[in-house]
Amino acid sequence: MAETVLKGYCSRCGQERDMLDPAPLSMPARGASREAVQGVCAICGTHMFKILDEKSSYEQAH
Ligand SMILES: [Zn+2]
Repeated sequence: MAETVLKGYCSRCGQERDMLDPAPLSMPARGASREAVQGVCAICGTHMFKILDEKSSYEQAH
């Protein structure tokens, strides 16, 4: 069983929280699509999402 705990910023808690029920989310952007994950805050249950940082790996390879 793979247990990957994703973290996202919860606007209600005002800080990073564990994300429950994560699901992939495709955010259309100009030129390219951004990979993101949406889920629910483990503390307060507010919907939250996290944009996966693809820039860091790109800059490392550059
Ligand atoms: Zn929260």
